[in-house]
This record gives sequence, C-alpha cells and structure tokens, in this order.
Amino acid sequence: MSEVFKGNFTQQEPLPEAAREAAMGVLRHGRLHRYNLAGEDAGEVALLEQEFAAFVGAKYCLATASGGSAIGVALRAVGVKPGDRVLTNAFTLAPVPGAIAAVGAEPVFVEVTDGLVIDLDDLAAKAGEAGVLLLSHMRGHIADMDRLMEICRAAGVVVVEDCAHTMGASWDGVPSGRHGAVACYSTQTYKHMNSGEGGLLVSDDEDIAAKAVLLSGSYMLYERHLAAPGPEVFARHRMEVPNISGRMDNLRAAILRPQLAELPRQIERWNARYREVEEGLRGTPGLTVVERGEAERFVGSSIQFLLKGWSGEAVGEVLARCLERGVELKWFGGPEPVGFTSAYGHWRYAETPELARTDAVLAGLVDMRLPLTFSVEDCALIARIIRAEVGTVFQAR
Ligand SMILES: *Cc1c(COP(=O)(O)O)cnc(C)c1O
Repeated sequence: MSEVFKGNFTQQEPLPEAAREAAMGVLRHGRLHRYNLAGEDAGEVALLEQEFAAFVGAKYCLATASGGSAIGVALRAVGVKPGDRVLTNAFTLAPVPGAIAAVGAEPVFVEVTDGLVIDLDDLAAKAGEAGVLLLSHMRGHIADMDRLMEICRAAGVVVVEDCAHTMGASWDGVPSGRHGAVACYSTQTYKHMNSGEGGLLVSDDEDIAAKAVLLSGSYMLYERHLAAPGPEVFARHRMEVPNISGRMDNLRAAILRPQLAELPRQIERWNARYREVEEGLRGTPGLTVVERGEAERFVGSSIQFLLKGWSGEAVGEVLARCLERGVELKWFGGPEPVGFTSAYGHWRYAETPELARTDAVLAGLVDMRLPLTFSVEDCALIARIIRAEVGTVFQAR
C-alpha cells in the first residue's frame, strides 16, 4: 500500500487566543472604523502601524484594506500616471500587474531566472524604459538586492517592493522591504499573518508616506496616525491627493497585532517544514531543488521545485499522481490559469512579449503551499510521495 497524505493545503491555523480576545474587545465597544476613537484610545490600526514600522525598522507605516490596495497606493504615491510604463516581474501573482493596470499604466515584464528571482541582466537591459520598478519577491525568493538597487539607481528607477511573500524575511541582514522607496505587504489569509484581507505599506520618505495616508482615505484625520509624518508634510499634499478609499479597520488590526508578536516564532516553524520537504526532495532524479542564497533569510511558507525540460504532459502526470495521494501541487506552466495560479501570458490586458527564459522556467515550475497546520512529519511524508511519483514518471519516460 502506498502512503497517502490526508492534510488540507488551504487550512491555516486558528487565530491565537490573544487575537480572539482582542477581536472581542473591538466588537464589544463597536468602534470598528480606524478614526472612530474614544478618550485615550489610539485605535488598533494606528498601534499596528506603529508596531509594524518598528518590526521592519521603517519611519512610516500605513495599514490598508488589502495588499493589492497597498500596491496601488504605493504606485500612485511615487507618481505613476496613466500611460506610464512600470517594470515588473514576469513571474508574480495576478494582483501585481493588476495594480499597474488599475493606475492606467502598462507593465513591462522582466524575465525570471531559474533561481525564481527577477533576471538582473534583463532588468539592466530594460531599466531605461520606465521610471518605476514594481519588484515582486514572488514566493519569497529575493534577488541580489545590492546589484538590483545599483541598476535602478544608475537608471533613475524608483523601486516599489511587493513583499507579500517576504514579510519577516531579510536579505543580507536588511529586512525585506527596506531597499526600495516603499514596500507593500499583505495580511490576506494565505500570507504570513492572517486578517482575511489586509495590507501594510512602509516607507522612510515623508512625502510618499503622507500621500499614501491621504490616498488610503484618511480625509483630514491624518493626525490620528502614529506612524505618519507631521502635519506640515500633509499640508503640502492634502488638497492635491485623491481619496481612493482603502483603509484597514480596527477589527482586523486587533487580530494582527498579536500575530505580529508571534511572527518570528512562526517563521522558525515554517522553515523547519520547508527544510524537511527540501531535504526529502534533494537528489530526486529529474527534479531540481531551488537553492536559496546565503544572504537570503527567507520564510518557507511555500516551496517550489523545477522539472527542467519535462514535457507538459509529464508534469501533468506528476501532478495527477501526487493529487491521487493527497498532495496538491500547482504548476505555473499550464495553458490555462487555475485557481490562484496564472502566468504572464494570461494577463492579456497587458502587452505580453515573448519571454523565452521565463517560459522555459515556468514550463517546469511546480509550487506547493506549506501551511502551519502541517507537522514536520507531514512534510517528510509529502516529500516521500513527491519523490516517488516524480521518480515513477521520470523512469517511465
Ligand atoms: C497576495 C499577493 C498580493 C496581493 O495581496 P492581497 O492582499 O491579496 O491583495 C500581491 N503580490 C503577491 C505576490 C501576492 O501573493
């Protein structure tokens, strides 16, 4: 009898007791809107912003309704206008090019390497085409940020970081999100903290921060923020910046604050699971593990591997055989978008040039979530199943 895995790939952990209590506190007083404050109460959202700014070492922080809304706010705050071209990763999630399109701008896709990071040679070649790079640390893989920033500085390109998969990660000791002018994080259920929907934006630039607060829908209540610049900075922008309404509320902030306190411990748990799967897959004939760089302190909330040079049919067979045994894998090389998974060729509202290197990587790119509801033993079992099924299909061909 072959082993079968019984876990659920989309089941996250219950929220910690402290988060449930904090939520009840907000429900009891009923002041859910972030600017609905009483007495000395600073509000959960303002406190979360202050705590998250301290967590990543940023001067300013804004909480938003979603990660995607944080990106939209960031693009507008750095001055992206309709018709502008914005560099971004060809390998990313749909809300990233979507945020560019929402501003009326056009994504310029940059190739991905087989280390799953943005191809810096291709970035250098295209840097002259745009004033902004929306850099997505997709699936938590972080490029050589020293070289990336050098390329962008030389070309006068402003960097906006999408850290949806790198909240709590760092590169060469610098927290992810602290290289660019502004960074965005997501607190959607499948990310590193769970408030259902939600986002965070950080920056050290007072003008970007003030514009972001106004864009998010602060009305003239921005003085109630604890991690925003002073009123003199808002005075420069308050009547120039549209309110595009995308605030976070006190209920979501209340359940995020205890999760932020737990995040370092959660990262350890994710990485123990990641290393277990990685070790179990290493050396499987036909399968390439994506090696992580020395400088990268990542968060192993998902894992990817490559079936390099495999036909689509063979990859499909591996996925079907694994699913039969309870292991749900995603494939970025499919002709049709499925579930959360789509590729640049599917984003037809944008100009999608041929990207041969990216196509070759995506054709063999397999992706798997690692929710914390899996034990380390579960991860060893998952790796045994993948190893066996990859082996069977590889041998038969
Ligand atoms: C989830 C995600 C986003 C957007 O976050 P939402 O909170 O779902 O809007 C952006 N980029 C990447 C890479 C993501 O995975």
